[in-house]
Amino acid sequence: MEYSNTKIIGGYDANFLDKFLDDYECPVCKLVFREPIQTQCGHRLCLSCSEEIKKRNGGILLCPLDKKISNFDRIFRDKAFKRVIMQLHVKCDNYIRNCHWTGELKIINAHFENCNCFPVDCVNQCGLSILRKEMPSHIANYCAFSLIPCQYFNIGCNFQL
Ligand SMILES: [Zn+2]
Ligand SMILES: [Zn+2]
Ligand SMILES: [Zn+2]
Ligand SMILES: [Zn+2]
Repeated sequence: MEYSNTKIIGGYDANFLDKFLDDYECPVCKLVFREPIQTQCGHRLCLSCSEEIKKRNGGILLCPLDKKISNFDRIFRDKAFKRVIMQLHVKCDNYIRNCHWTGELKIINAHFENCNCFPVDCVNQCGLSILRKEMPSHIANYCAFSLIPCQYFNIGCNFQL
């Protein structure tokens, strides 16, 4: 899932609705290109995948398809193609938890921030992660850290367990 800002290696492993050609698939990670670059030989790679190749080849970018070496000044970010990819339609990763959202890839992170089926840490920090839509009922009925008014509350006891 795309929620955190940790460095992600490889392409998009989202649930794409559009049928797409192999052209959208990175030859290294076999996922849909993330931050595509174009090599000198005219092939595309994810930026992170190209960096992995360089790491493994002592700083040289060797094309995985035709083994051609790219000069760094001939490699460019393929912004036009990135735009095409960001417009592909996906369904929410939480569709298995019954989220029916679909939309363009570029707005899936914004959706995750509101997705009712997204697991989030309990607001009471009881250590459980709860689907966002179930938080109110978790807090009201199940959370071990919810403050429970003393059973003598109605006769003036303000003690909370
Ligand atoms: Zn890749
Ligand atoms: Zn190539
Ligand atoms: Zn969702
Ligand atoms: Zn809780």
